[in-house]
Amino acid sequence: MALTGIEIFKLLPKTNCGQCGVPTCLAFAMSLAAGKAELSKCPIVSEEAKAKLTEASAPPILPVTIGVGEKAVKIGGETVMFRHEKRFENAPAIALLIDDQMPDAEVDARLNRFKTLEYERVGLKLRGNMLALRSGSNDAAKFVSFINKVKSSTDSPFILISRSADVLTAGVKACAERKPLIFAATKDTVDQIGALAKETGCPVGAKAANPEEMAALTEKLAAMGIKNIVMDAGARTVKQAFQDQVIIRSAALNKKYRPLGYPTIVQPREMTTDPMKEALIAAMFIAKYAGIIVLSDFRGESLFPLLVARLNIYTDPQRPLATTQGIYEINNPNENSPFMITSNFSLTYFIVSGEIENSKVPSWLYVKDTEGLSVMTSWAAGKFSADILGPAIKKSGIENKIKHRKLIIPGYIAAESGALEEELPGWQIQVGPRDASNLPAYLKNWKA
Ligand code: SF4
Repeated sequence: MALTGIEIFKLLPKTNCGQCGVPTCLAFAMSLAAGKAELSKCPIVSEEAKAKLTEASAPPILPVTIGVGEKAVKIGGETVMFRHEKRFENAPAIALLIDDQMPDAEVDARLNRFKTLEYERVGLKLRGNMLALRSGSNDAAKFVSFINKVKSSTDSPFILISRSADVLTAGVKACAERKPLIFAATKDTVDQIGALAKETGCPVGAKAANPEEMAALTEKLAAMGIKNIVMDAGARTVKQAFQDQVIIRSAALNKKYRPLGYPTIVQPREMTTDPMKEALIAAMFIAKYAGIIVLSDFRGESLFPLLVARLNIYTDPQRPLATTQGIYEINNPNENSPFMITSNFSLTYFIVSGEIENSKVPSWLYVKDTEGLSVMTSWAAGKFSADILGPAIKKSGIENKIKHRKLIIPGYIAAESGALEEELPGWQIQVGPRDASNLPAYLKNWKA
């Protein structure tokens, strides 16, 4: 059960020393209770209090990491039922299934799709995250050789799937250093799989027939000292699986019921044989509330919309998506190419850069950091005015890339053109169109 701010306050040193960044222990306790601060910010809290507070300040759905290195996947850590209450923390991982009974050519084709189906959107790389390696053969030696083949070709995280605890044990030992998710411990295999997870430090999947059985299983794993648990609550009809996701999230968050306070794994591929229906079911679980979604295969036409849906739902509603400040080259510009400026609101950047790309006119685009605000909003907020843009352009390095000194500004900030010429002596400020859709025609007539 999470502690209140006052209960946390009672465990703090009460010196009001301010080393945590807030002036009083009470203020820090309130921030901790609201999940807005980390206990590590208080350097003088006692070990005993630390142990109690660490447990109490853990999110109601524990975070779980699968894999190692840059591609490790972090799921769980969620604190709200609905995105608008705060934000969803860790986007669900999307996994591609490969079976050790598939012919080599099919395994290679799937690995290739896993690596190459990658998309860029609003400056972010979108792609699937994990490989679900299943032992359809139920043959430990075959599974190990299959894992070794896949392991040599990717450093992405694995889920190892088998009904046999012995096959799973052999598989985990072949790649334990990669910290795969062991899938799954059931009521019949929990002792062996739990011991394997403890020995190797790998996260473990728990599979039960329903949420009630799941709670008993996770309590058993927790009693073994295992906290890195991912739950498969068993349902294989869309309606029941959806209800279980909501029940689990609600029990963990609203009832603070720790036995269901772990991320979940869902298997849309076991709910339909139709690839398009599978994608629709997966989309539903992106919204509510999967930690991992295992797909029967990756197809560009269904993977891309799923990745975009995931991006949209897992962005922080309190922070606009922003593009990195800098000079962007579009259509291979040279020293005589036009030079434009825009804000770093991702949507603005993508609309403007898309129109420039469509124009086929080689161009330079300077994206100014406006904290993710659009041109109009940032200008109204004083973040896109001449006194800010002038110095930024001088520092940008554009003067080493172009011969001319002409800057095209968005039509919406035409009023800044005079002040900008004062900020940038020797430059000519040109007012571009207000609407990005008019950029291609404008650029085609532009002359250095
Ligand atoms: S650092 Fe610790 S003791 Fe100091 S004010 Fe913050 S919570 Fe209190």
